[in-house]
Amino acid sequence: MQLSTDSDMNGMSFRRSLLIPIPEIFLAAEQILRALEKHACGEKAEAEHLLQTANIDVVRAYTEQAWGRGATARYGFVTVADAPPRLSPADRPKPRMPDSSTRAAVISRDGYHCRFCGIPVVDATLRRLIAARYPAAVGWGSTNNTQHAAFQCMWLQFDHILPNSRGGSSLVDNVVIACAACNFGRMETTLEEARLLHPLEFDPPILWERHEVWDGLERFRAQLQSG
Ligand SMILES: [Zn+2]
Repeated sequence: MQLSTDSDMNGMSFRRSLLIPIPEIFLAAEQILRALEKHACGEKAEAEHLLQTANIDVVRAYTEQAWGRGATARYGFVTVADAPPRLSPADRPKPRMPDSSTRAAVISRDGYHCRFCGIPVVDATLRRLIAARYPAAVGWGSTNNTQHAAFQCMWLQFDHILPNSRGGSSLVDNVVIACAACNFGRMETTLEEARLLHPLEFDPPILWERHEVWDGLERFRAQLQSG
């Protein structure tokens, strides 16, 4: 599995993503896909079991690396002399988040994989539909460790390339699809400070055989909504 590419610019090492995805993320995605295929066939008990088996501890541990303080040391962020300053909330570009038409355009361009690390992602509104059908298997509590590990890791984010707090807009050319770890690991850090390559300047990493057909499980949305 080819996971990460470093390149050297101006004497600094740049990378595609902060973390290198682990194989268990893709295994969990496969199990969730199979679960929804079972659900579509009316095999609810098997679907529930597969959703439970996708709740993998090492996936939770992977995502845990991304949260909270300490990212500077963890990921080797650097200080950039002429970096855009952090703006007060009143001075940041509006809207804070992309509107629905922009979100649709970003998904159309990027699909349902993180543009940084290449893992499959699932929209939160779809995860809520699955959790409503299978509340015992797909927990989503208020604390990190009470949330289903795979859906947490694969949580679709609309990530600002230049953070909004640093002057970045919520327009299509400044927003990419990202996973939870890539979004929350970087937070208000610029690409250069995080030593990350621009995610739209390389082809998305293709890390599993379902890359071309993974639709974020959207094909199941209508059925999950209707019962
Ligand atoms: Zn990612």
